[in-house]
Amino acid sequence: MKKNIATICMGLMILIFSTSLALAAKGQPAKTTGPNGGGGTGIGVDSLPYEYPSVVEIEAMIFMVEEEKVARDVYNVLYSEWGIPAFANIAKAEQRHMDAIIALLDKYGLENPVAGLDPGVFANLEMQELYESLVEAGMVDEIGALHVGATIEDLDIFDLLHELELVDNEDITVVFNNLLKGSENHLRSFCALLVLYGSGLYEAQYLTQTQVDAILAATRTSGNRGSSYVSSPQQNLRLDANGDGICDLFQ
Ligand code: ZN
Ligand code: ZN
Repeated sequence: MKKNIATICMGLMILIFSTSLALAAKGQPAKTTGPNGGGGTGIGVDSLPYEYPSVVEIEAMIFMVEEEKVARDVYNVLYSEWGIPAFANIAKAEQRHMDAIIALLDKYGLENPVAGLDPGVFANLEMQELYESLVEAGMVDEIGALHVGATIEDLDIFDLLHELELVDNEDITVVFNNLLKGSENHLRSFCALLVLYGSGLYEAQYLTQTQVDAILAATRTSGNRGSSYVSSPQQNLRLDANGDGICDLFQ
């Protein structure tokens, strides 16, 4: 009897395997794609090649989706406290960043580590501690809150650049590059607001100052949305009008 079951199982495995081969031969993916196709960033990750991610790539996605959640949750708290519209607008962008990574996780049948977690709650202890320290710093005053915003984007860009060196899947690379452009826009917005609120220039904490200066000197890039997060009539001006690499929009 055991032998019969083993034979049936073997037969089923061969059947499944040959069905997969037949589908692959027709140029169709053997696995169905996730339901969350575009992920809210306008990228159809399901239309890009299906290349099962390496362990390093899986770790990168799990890490980044939680870091995007830190950004979203901190900005929502800081918007409630200070009412600065940029926090609400950028929190929405962070939700789209999370959705884009979740679309990748769905595509490969991987578990979303932040599914069902309430705002301010994280699976990764390091992220939990990061969230709490950022919220504490952001509650001091408005400049403290905007400095937290710039700090998060500085860290996010630093981590994305690091992860982009480790991944080679086309879909993950496209999503991470898109998140990178969005984060650069966010850094420019927080930097402009810091100056508007009378603070000094933001000093790099994770990236080098040269990298931050280059980002501030660049014009907006359409990583996700073309709109500005800074509600000021001057919002569409370059942040570095004299080209010296320093954020000077409101000086
Ligand atoms: Zn983000
Ligand atoms: Zn951001």
